[in-house]
Parts: sequence; structure tokens; C-alpha cells
Amino acid sequence: MSLESETGAGGKDAPLDRLRADPRRAAILTDVDGTLAPIVEQPEQAVVPARASELLEALNRDFGLVGCISGRQALEARRLVGVDGIAYAGNHGLELLMPGDEQPQLDPALAGQERSAAEFIAALDAAALASLGLRLEDKGPIQSLHWRGAADEHRAKARAHEIAAEAGRTKLEPRWGRKVLELRPIGGGGKDAAVAALLAADGVSAAIYAGDDRTDLDAFRRLRELRDEGELKSAVCVGVVSAEAPPELAEEADLLVDGPSGWLAMLEALAE
Ligand SMILES: [Mg+2]
Repeated sequence: MSLESETGAGGKDAPLDRLRADPRRAAILTDVDGTLAPIVEQPEQAVVPARASELLEALNRDFGLVGCISGRQALEARRLVGVDGIAYAGNHGLELLMPGDEQPQLDPALAGQERSAAEFIAALDAAALASLGLRLEDKGPIQSLHWRGAADEHRAKARAHEIAAEAGRTKLEPRWGRKVLELRPIGGGGKDAAVAALLAADGVSAAIYAGDDRTDLDAFRRLRELRDEGELKSAVCVGVVSAEAPPELAEEADLLVDGPSGWLAMLEALAE
């Protein structure tokens, strides 16, 4: 598949046409970091372009559902995107924050395990992690270790692999992202569960999802299952390409766009 091969002007954008034909019955779902917001050295420096936020707000007026699915905590994703009237699934689907909600709902499957990852991390040698450039991000039930920008990223990543193996022997599941290891309780959540939870709203029969990373593949697969089961008539999986993209992203996407600017252009086309 060539980049943006089917999305240009001139009638080749059939996948988008299916969404635009009946927007009230269509959902637009998007990952945040690396998809709406360009990847930056430190997650706290990420910025969603103002135009992307405007488009999501505008699309929310016409489409049945607009939602962001993020590895960040749901409230943090909403702060970053800056649009209150859309839905957010945070912590890779462990939290759901619907329009107007003040606090996210936690996945009930987490009951009793909310602190497992934090307790595991607390038992590690914090000074040793810091000296390797492994930075902790406390996301409540999920704890992340980032090594982007470490003096020796290979060494930091090697330590992250050891930690993942240790965590895997407890009741934690390691998940890998772009220069980040996430430790989460086993069971519940996942971007696949987030997609299913958001699309459970009545009346949506078509959906598009865009993502840039390995965890987004879970969302792709769930969308296809929903289509195969007849819950959706149309499902479009958009891979947001970067130099760090896992190879499976291009293999499993229906369409590819070049970075967050490519996805922004597709949102512009949907809003036309
Ligand atoms: Mg991402």
C-alpha cells in the first residue's frame, strides 16, 4: 500500500465517503500521542495542534461519535486535546470519560489491582533507574518507564526488558510502546476494549480509527471483529507512519498517512 494512496482528491477516497455519507451513524476515533500530537522528547511537552482540536470539535457536531483513545490518563488526554464535548478512553481503555463527565469510570476488571503496578515499581531501585535515564510516569493503575533521551538508550531499554520479565512473573502485563514500557494489571482495558466500549453507543454503523503504535493494533483488530460480526458495516484503520512505527502497523492498516500532519489532512477531508 502506498502512502495516502486512496485518500487523495478525485474520487479515490471511498473509505472516507462511506463515513461522510451518513455521519450521524459514523464514529471517528483517534489515538493522541504520535497521531494527533507529534512525538516529543518528554510526554509532558506534547502539544495537539489547535487546528486538530478545532476539527474534532467541528466533526463532533456532525458525526455520531468522536473519541480519543490514549495511553494517557483520560483527564490528561482531555486536557491535552482541549475538547470537552467528545469521549475519551484513557490508560489504554482502563478509564472511560464520556462527554460532560467530571471523573473517568475505571474498568471494573481492575478491582483490587489498582495499586499492583505502583507497588511493583516502588520496590525497584529508583536511583538506579534514574541513573540509566529511565523515567517513571505514574498513571495510577498503569506505571510507565520512558527512556527517550536517555544518555544510552540501548542500555536503558535493556534494563526495561529485565524489568518487564520480572513484572511478568507477578500479576502484571508488560506492554511496549515507542521508547516506553508500560506495566499494567492483567485483564481489563486495552485499546480493543476501549473501541468496543465507545462503539457500544446505539446507532453507529461505521467507524474510522487512527493510531501510530503497537497498542493501536489492538484497536484495529477489534474494529475488524466488529465488522465481521456485523456490528459495523464499515471499518477503516488508519496507520500514522513514522520512522519508529512497528512494521505491523503498515501491514494491518487499511490506509497509511504520513505522521500527525497526514492524519490532520484526513480530518480536514472528513470535515469538508
Ligand atoms: Mg500513539
